[in-house]
Amino acid sequence: TEAHLGAMEKARVLNAYLVETPEKALEMAKTSDSRIAKGEAGPLEGIPLGVKDMFATEGVRTTAGSKILDDFRPPYESTVTSQLWRDGAVLLGKLNNDEFAMGSSNETSAFGPAINPWRARGSSENLVPGGSSGGSSAAVAARLCLGATGTDTGGSIRQPAAFTGTVGIKPTYGRCSRWGIVAFASSLDQAGPFARTVKDTAILLRSMAGHDPKDTTSVDMPVPDYAAAVGRSVKGLRIGVPKEYRVEGMPPEIEKLWMQGAEWLKAAGAEVVEISLPHTKYALPAYYIVAPAEASSNLARYDGVRYGMRVPGRDVIEMYENTRAAGFGPEVRRRIMIGTYVLSAGYYDAYYVKAQKVRTLIKRDFDEAFAAGIDAVLTPTTPSPAFAIGSKASADPVEMYLNDVFTVTVNMAGLPGIAVPAGHSAEGLPLGLQLIGRPFDEETLFSVAHAVE
Ligand code: GLN
Repeated sequence: TEAHLGAMEKARVLNAYLVETPEKALEMAKTSDSRIAKGEAGPLEGIPLGVKDMFATEGVRTTAGSKILDDFRPPYESTVTSQLWRDGAVLLGKLNNDEFAMGSSNETSAFGPAINPWRARGSSENLVPGGSSGGSSAAVAARLCLGATGTDTGGSIRQPAAFTGTVGIKPTYGRCSRWGIVAFASSLDQAGPFARTVKDTAILLRSMAGHDPKDTTSVDMPVPDYAAAVGRSVKGLRIGVPKEYRVEGMPPEIEKLWMQGAEWLKAAGAEVVEISLPHTKYALPAYYIVAPAEASSNLARYDGVRYGMRVPGRDVIEMYENTRAAGFGPEVRRRIMIGTYVLSAGYYDAYYVKAQKVRTLIKRDFDEAFAAGIDAVLTPTTPSPAFAIGSKASADPVEMYLNDVFTVTVNMAGLPGIAVPAGHSAEGLPLGLQLIGRPFDEETLFSVAHAVE
């Protein structure tokens, strides 16, 4: 814990942590020492972790990357983080993220972007760590924690993992409780861990997962010993390579890495087959209807009354307007406007209902592949390596949304997906492969991911 607190102080330029909690960390580490001495160590005893600022942490500032929650200190702890502390982990601080987790580069954070510790060879340009869990990926990659929590609504764990050479898994929808996590799009949001190895993410996920009566969508199923799946043979597994993911304009180095991954799995005894997921091209447009729709509804609660910021007005309506205008950044306002529009009378059937139907078709594509005997699907995690800060944010927002092309299908279908570092670009930047699994079969993902890491 002390070593990590020291490293955090030296690496503040990365803006990975929004809040550092050194006193709390040392106190928790001391408790761990005594539990170890008494022979009562938990599975994560003394392991220093960072927590994405979307998780409510009791008494510790929780902003969701937004000015509207600038001074919010929750009176409660999220279920996922309380399970980490139950198992002995130590809180180092709260990690930067895109405002309300809306973004792919951490640049929509009201507190400035986190910076990727990686740079292209020979370049001094700062790169994005991905998003929305950019603080988590930057901190794990820069050794500012041993692991971190993230949330993933459309790729926010897997894409930043790919951009920083770290491992990140979004488990099946319902695996982890969403209670105490700031809601973005409730039917898509899932928590998951970041770490430097597949095995470390497996160990962390076991503590984070599990049924919680406080989240009605959390599933009452036993949580397996995920770490036991790491190192298990992949011999005889059938791995699908979906032809629709060969998108136009994919850089040759991404394509090469993908085929290399397929070769590694074949060499390990798996069978690799081409599959078709025909509705893939509709996933991104449907996601950018469903996610803003749910966000516009979830964010109605930031009204200047219940949490955080309040900007007075002559009457209550003006107070709402003033608070929300001052508190929300441009990307969040854009999502609220899109979401309100697609949910409004007259447009609801044309947009929202249609997007839900597309969602069903996307899920059916995967169901059919799994029914045909596919155990996991192999894809690249992102269509490019990390890009420069400022290079996409200022352009058309759609340009940024395109970055989620390989990750959003997984959330739309509620499936587990893991991103694993598998190579480097010509400039030496990390590149990731993604594995997508059957519902609640994270174990297969851990064994297959370990075979390519
Ligand atoms: N980049 C996607 C978005 O902006 C996904 C974000 C996320 O997974 N939280 O919606």
